[in-house]
Amino acid sequence: MKSLKQLRIISSSIAALLALMILPVMAGTELPAGVDIATLTRIRDAAMSSDYPYERLTELTDQIGPRLSGSVGAEAAVQLIADDMRQIGMQVTLQPVTVPHWVRGIETAELVDYPKRPAGITQKVVLTALGSSAATPAAGLTLPVLVVHSMEELDQNKDRVKGRIVLFDVAYDQHLADNGLAGNAYGEAGLYRFIGPAAASRLGAAAALVRSVGGADYRLAHTGATGWGKDAKPIPAAAVTAEDAMLMTRLAAKGEIKMHLTLTPQTLPDVDSHNVIADLAGSDKAADIVIISGHMDSWDLAQGAIDDGAGLVVALGVADVFKKLGLQPRRTVRIIGWMNEENGTRGGKAYFDANKDKLSNHIATIESDTGGGRPFGLIASVTAQDEAMLEPLKPMLRSIGTPVIEKRDYAGGADVSLLTAKGVPSFEPLLDIRNYFSYHHTPADTLDKVDPENLRRQVAMFAMLTWYLAEMPEPLQPLTPEAQQ
Ligand SMILES: [Zn+2]
Repeated sequence: MKSLKQLRIISSSIAALLALMILPVMAGTELPAGVDIATLTRIRDAAMSSDYPYERLTELTDQIGPRLSGSVGAEAAVQLIADDMRQIGMQVTLQPVTVPHWVRGIETAELVDYPKRPAGITQKVVLTALGSSAATPAAGLTLPVLVVHSMEELDQNKDRVKGRIVLFDVAYDQHLADNGLAGNAYGEAGLYRFIGPAAASRLGAAAALVRSVGGADYRLAHTGATGWGKDAKPIPAAAVTAEDAMLMTRLAAKGEIKMHLTLTPQTLPDVDSHNVIADLAGSDKAADIVIISGHMDSWDLAQGAIDDGAGLVVALGVADVFKKLGLQPRRTVRIIGWMNEENGTRGGKAYFDANKDKLSNHIATIESDTGGGRPFGLIASVTAQDEAMLEPLKPMLRSIGTPVIEKRDYAGGADVSLLTAKGVPSFEPLLDIRNYFSYHHTPADTLDKVDPENLRRQVAMFAMLTWYLAEMPEPLQPLTPEAQQ
């Protein structure tokens, strides 16, 4: 005989099963007035059969490649994306943005002394400077290395920091990433890249190193931005490979280790650049805007195919689908190629400053900035009521294998963060990113990492969502009163 507890479990499972059987029938039947299944189907099918986004990505990565803010590549990307959008008939505006101009120099390091080092032996350390790193003297510097594994350990050793190179050896947890928590893994280890060098600088460190933030064990150094806050003096700062960080931890456990470090990046004067804004003007509600976007700039080590070429061409692909089908939405669909996401977010700030009086016209923002992996659905930052309003879209999303709508407090990339902070409803793709941080900010972020079929799925998903948001009789509700103004 079954226990009461077992019976409860069985009856609740039956209830859950029934709910699952009934829900899909209830959802999906009531598309809002003005949104019809035939148009959504045409949008989906056009996106799923289009090579346009992958062709744009190939053009961006193979013809231009790296696009760090202030570089020739970044400027070439602005022109290319603007031309692409003009070619399909979008109304293009170049919004001025002044961007930082940091350039990488020589970056070499070797361990020149450590316990039991045989005479004549030194060990190469593979590293890459972090954005906004200061430079060492041209001939480099030779100093002892203090290895720590947490901020607490740095604090416990604060009297030993002055005049040393501090290494933060904090591992990226691939186990989290393998189980759907890559963002958490990135946040945990990335914290040391964001604030570690500044913390070391405040205690008098001569230079700071962090363990590369990302998975994959191919001795790749992952660059990225670091910040100095208002009070920390910029010092030379670099990311070493996971393998080299582990080597230094092992050697340092036996006694003092010394490194010869040369980093010669330069911070040059700011440069004039642009966000590319391409509008498909709405019909009767043209003042209302749905943004779909990705960022044009990338780190300088590679082609920036996953970060963020993929997200950018998804936005272009949505525009192309609407244009090819001759669709005019009720609200304006605004494609934005952002500038300077990686080391300043000045594009996002410039857009916000120019539009902060028009927040209530911003119905929703979409930014795709987590690569080109297999999409599972959407992450949505919307009210509970609007989450229900999106239900009828699910059967269409399900038909391309992207049925999930996951409600979170925050959605979207860094470029739209000022808009979302003011309560503008926002979306980002829910993607398979278990391997995203293996390539992110490394020389291996190249075109081959993006599967064209996954790109088509992402375009189809966002094209249907964008159309839905642009056509719904009532707009999505802002999440705060500020966005209603
Ligand atoms: Zn990015």
